[in-house]
Amino acid sequence: SIVYLNGEFLRLADAKVSVLDRGFVFGDGIYEVVPVYKGVPFRMHQHIARLQRSLQSVRIHLEYTEAQWQALVEGVLARVDDSASNLMVYLQVTRGVAKRDHAFPAAVEPTVFCMASPFARPGKAQREEGLAAISVPDTRWLLCHIKSISLLGNVLAKQAAVDAGVDEVLQFREGYLTEGSSCNIWVVKNGVLMAPEANHLILEGIRYRFLAELARNAGIPFEARPVSAEEVNDADELMLTSATKEVLPIVRYNGNPVGTGKPGPVYALLRASYDRVIESL
Ligand code: PMP
Repeated sequence: SIVYLNGEFLRLADAKVSVLDRGFVFGDGIYEVVPVYKGVPFRMHQHIARLQRSLQSVRIHLEYTEAQWQALVEGVLARVDDSASNLMVYLQVTRGVAKRDHAFPAAVEPTVFCMASPFARPGKAQREEGLAAISVPDTRWLLCHIKSISLLGNVLAKQAAVDAGVDEVLQFREGYLTEGSSCNIWVVKNGVLMAPEANHLILEGIRYRFLAELARNAGIPFEARPVSAEEVNDADELMLTSATKEVLPIVRYNGNPVGTGKPGPVYALLRASYDRVIESL
């Protein structure tokens, strides 16, 4: 497959960066993942806005306009072999290549990388049977709103799920829910949808605002507020959202059924609304 690296379209096997790239040495970079349905990037404007915010937060200076990002992504999409499948576009920018030193190098060109890979929308089993999750302490840093490529905390969290034989983790900081290893978490109690506020302790997913919109349109009350571990234990429904998982129900939590142990009615409404939007693209 063909990828974009620093101004060129190359075969994946020919795309190389220096071992002195600060992404490799320090994890000094940011990224984005954009789902593409039938060739149409979904919520591209919001993904690019988040990318620009991430760049600003870590002070990587890259003067790409939204139109330039769009052209770059379209360039990669135009070169995809299997353009019939749904795709996820991965975009990464690192501070660039420089002699190893923690402080920002004086003059450096950021490394810009983009690739597209096929992605399968969640299937019947995940939608209808749901997922299992466990709770873990959130051991990550305090700037989780930045979509940083330094993902060691998220990697260890996800591996804790794999080691426990479940699909996902719910992370908690000082007794309050933050998010999953690479997804946002939603809690339903008495018909009210809740999620932690989008502050520095979570990554505000593009699906975060999208699901809140779907809830509003479906007449489901939504509250962005701190959610305690007790409230999660006591939830009627739990669900998660991300670019590739879309929205999926969590039906077992720490070994116990969530609510009835089956995907709930609020999930069903939101999933149906989600599918309608994607089918209308
Ligand atoms: N939180 C974290 C930590 C993530 O990595 C992701 C996925 N990128 C999300 C939330 C969900 O974001 P999105 O809906 O944009 O995929």
